[in-house]
Amino acid sequence: MKYISTRGGIEPIAFKDAVMMGLSTDGGLLLPEKIPFINSRQLEEWQALPYRDLAFRVISLFCDDIPAADLKNLIDRSYGSFDHPEITPVVHKNGVNIVELFHGPTLAFKDVALQLLGNLFEYLLKESGKKMNIVGATSGDTGSAAIYGVRGKENIAIFILHPHGKTSPVQALQMTTVLDDNVHNIAVKGTFDDCQNMVKALFNDLDFKEKHALGAVNSINWARVLAQVVYYFYAYFKVSESLDQRVIFSVPTGNFGDIFAGYVAKRMGLPISQLLLATNENNILTRFVLHGDYSLGTVVPTLSPSMDIQVASNFERYLYFLYNENPLRVREAIEEFSKTGRMNFSTEERSIVTSDFLSQSVDRQETLDTIAAFYQETGYLLDPHTAVGVKAAQDHRDRNLPLICLATAHPAKFEEAVITATGLPPERPASLAGIEKLPSRCEVLEADLVQVKTFFEQLAL
Ligand SMILES: *Cc1c(COP(=O)(O)O)cnc(C)c1O
Repeated sequence: MKYISTRGGIEPIAFKDAVMMGLSTDGGLLLPEKIPFINSRQLEEWQALPYRDLAFRVISLFCDDIPAADLKNLIDRSYGSFDHPEITPVVHKNGVNIVELFHGPTLAFKDVALQLLGNLFEYLLKESGKKMNIVGATSGDTGSAAIYGVRGKENIAIFILHPHGKTSPVQALQMTTVLDDNVHNIAVKGTFDDCQNMVKALFNDLDFKEKHALGAVNSINWARVLAQVVYYFYAYFKVSESLDQRVIFSVPTGNFGDIFAGYVAKRMGLPISQLLLATNENNILTRFVLHGDYSLGTVVPTLSPSMDIQVASNFERYLYFLYNENPLRVREAIEEFSKTGRMNFSTEERSIVTSDFLSQSVDRQETLDTIAAFYQETGYLLDPHTAVGVKAAQDHRDRNLPLICLATAHPAKFEEAVITATGLPPERPASLAGIEKLPSRCEVLEADLVQVKTFFEQLAL
């Protein structure tokens, strides 16, 4: 399986190179040359597989340059860190099916991908004899999941910038209580945008990037999307009564990574009727699906901060398919967008979009009401991101298809929102019990690139 760029500017490359490259060197995103199709006989074979075996079958189709035994071992180790034997169990509440994606070490779905990516990096660096310094900015979930993905690993160091005092307290502690030598937390006296801009500046300094072998873990890495394809299959098999049963997946969306994984599963032949794209008040993607209006707004802070995004970095992958795999059209659209802040779509394109997606934007009050009502009716607590998806699903019951909601975080990660909704703090899972009392390590710096660079250079591998 070879990988190409959505912008058509690179020769096809192998899976391993795609993992190490992250963003394509022509500025585009990497995609498999061809998405494999799973026929009904294969679906039947996969139906009863445990999560890890299913993951091996799915991932093998996209990765033919790692020996099978090694790949199996990487996958088994990656999901050994989950606290549930099913990895992503499905529960049934009030007529909706909920896939719990928060059983990894940092209690958010990003662990599903980053546990695997960390192991892949370590494996590939060992093979090439190279080192890597990962640098990233986080508003909360990505940072801790990335840190847990690479903590204690050989030949990798990680530097994560977060805005000082602006993540949830639990989110900050999940990062700063990791004391491994290769983990470096920087609390920046500034905003998430300050963090993001400094990280971008480091990557744009090509000499610096090369000299220090900078690596990224953001959701543009193909391996992250790929790891997430697996749970769409897994959840489908748990919910469907027959293998021609069509279903709807409701996906709380920010960077379009998770929902794009669902789109890949659909293109592989999994009987997904449509993907329900659920957004909070930052609803550019909902406007796109419902009205063909993809135009830039300003980011507003919400109860579901991991979805407070306007320009979704994985959206370009969908555009590539919407434009019939024509990289020229993708380039034109991206250029238009960077000039005007909007993209326009033909009637025909819009009808393709609505055959792939449903969409709904859910506001603050609806999110709180959904958490409260769901808790009252079922005793089950939703985190504010999951609640956005559940509310959207409840409003699409008239489709008469099984609805599967992705639960992207454990409610204990967002205590404040849960308390506002229900008046009660969520029960903490074992990994968070007493986290405030654990020793922690974190460097507090001004939002100043020189300070950040100096700190980095002292500790980089
Ligand atoms: C990152 C995140 C999302 C959004 O996922 P995308 O892949 O960016 O669309 C939703 N919920 C939670 C809890 C997250 O951490």
